[in-house]
Amino acid sequence: MKVTTKTEELLEKRQKYVVRAVSNGSLNFAREAKGATVIDIEGNEWIDFAAGIGMINVGHNHPKVVEAIKAQVDHVIHPGFNVIMYENYVELAEKLCEVTPGTHDKQVILLNSGAEAVENAVKIARRYTKKSGVVSFTRGYHGRTNLTMGMTSKVKPYKEGFGPFAPEIYKAPYPYLYQKPAGETEVEYVDRIIAEFKDFFLTTVSPEMVACVVMEPLQGEGGFIVPPKKFVQEIAKFCNENNIVFIADEIQTGFGRTGKLFAIEHFDVVPDLITVSKSLAAGMPLSGVIGRKEIMEVSEPGQLGGTYAGSPTANAAALAVIEIMKEEKLPERAEIIGQKIENKIKALQAKYPEIGDIRRLGAMVAMEIVKDPVTREADKYRVTDIANYANQHGLLLLTAGIKGNVIRFLPPLVITDEELEKGFAILEDAFANS
Ligand code: PMP
Repeated sequence: MKVTTKTEELLEKRQKYVVRAVSNGSLNFAREAKGATVIDIEGNEWIDFAAGIGMINVGHNHPKVVEAIKAQVDHVIHPGFNVIMYENYVELAEKLCEVTPGTHDKQVILLNSGAEAVENAVKIARRYTKKSGVVSFTRGYHGRTNLTMGMTSKVKPYKEGFGPFAPEIYKAPYPYLYQKPAGETEVEYVDRIIAEFKDFFLTTVSPEMVACVVMEPLQGEGGFIVPPKKFVQEIAKFCNENNIVFIADEIQTGFGRTGKLFAIEHFDVVPDLITVSKSLAAGMPLSGVIGRKEIMEVSEPGQLGGTYAGSPTANAAALAVIEIMKEEKLPERAEIIGQKIENKIKALQAKYPEIGDIRRLGAMVAMEIVKDPVTREADKYRVTDIANYANQHGLLLLTAGIKGNVIRFLPPLVITDEELEKGFAILEDAFANS
């Protein structure tokens, strides 16, 4: 008689009762986690290079986060901020105003998910500018709700069959240095994309129709594409000159990931609004929009909010996260970890020329896998094989990219050298065996 494991039993149930549409990287079930290590229900160890897609920069079950959540649930789980207020919503709002770029007066709204934060940022910008157009970028990702799906680029799997999408969404060009035409210098290429961005407002939509430009300061799902500083600065300047709200979507890039608390700080640009989520609350559902007071205060009472938005339990976790970021110097640590990962990938590249590009900002690191380093043609299948092998052999690993040919590294920023070594040993096996 075949003995089935608990994992096999659960997998069968999962297939029976849970929709296929929610995909799974690993086919195992977590029992507990700490730092950058996850233990599954069979007692197997997994090194975590994914951090819940950049959601747990402070590490799994950071003792301070656990303590803060426990202390909060003993008092009140969630009375609903619209019904009766509570202290830590206000405390967190104040902290977020302090830690985000810019010394201007700011205000905050707290929400639940990343997509909800983006939706609200757009509402706020529309209400303020009295305009309706939304500009996002080619390869951008902003969520799965109707509006944010429309703002997202990757058609398969995110959009196919889910239309019609919200109107008044336009996609502008975003530079991708590794895939620039061979005949152009970097400077020429960046200048051309900036010119195309400006032309876009002549050929596609006028600035008088556009409420906001929503930009990831480093494209996440799109393949960890780091834009040139000049590009980001020109976009911000254009917005400023044309009464367009410039929104930095820092949902994946925020909270120390890139070596600064927010990625936009690398570009010496102060956005009008910032959307945050993921690592904000170390695994609790929480998101927010932080922005210039004069923009945030235009919406009327009752126009924004939500039942679960900004729950005390999630806020308690977020307040702990902000302290941990400072105490453990996690943005600085991100740069150190990022450098270590880069060195490891460079060593792999010497053996595997299909690693065409290595790019990073802090500990947001990626390698692009190509069929041929000269043609730079995407090799999605190699990436799928490597990720599958890793995800079956003790390493949680994510892919990215419009063409699915990018392997991305988003480990918790508290990952130890030993965990990094273990993770890379599995990755090397994955390259060798897949
Ligand atoms: N914006 C960005 C930049 C993201 O990376 C994501 C999630 N990957 C979202 C928005 C959507 O967040 P959520 O899944 O919490 O809705």
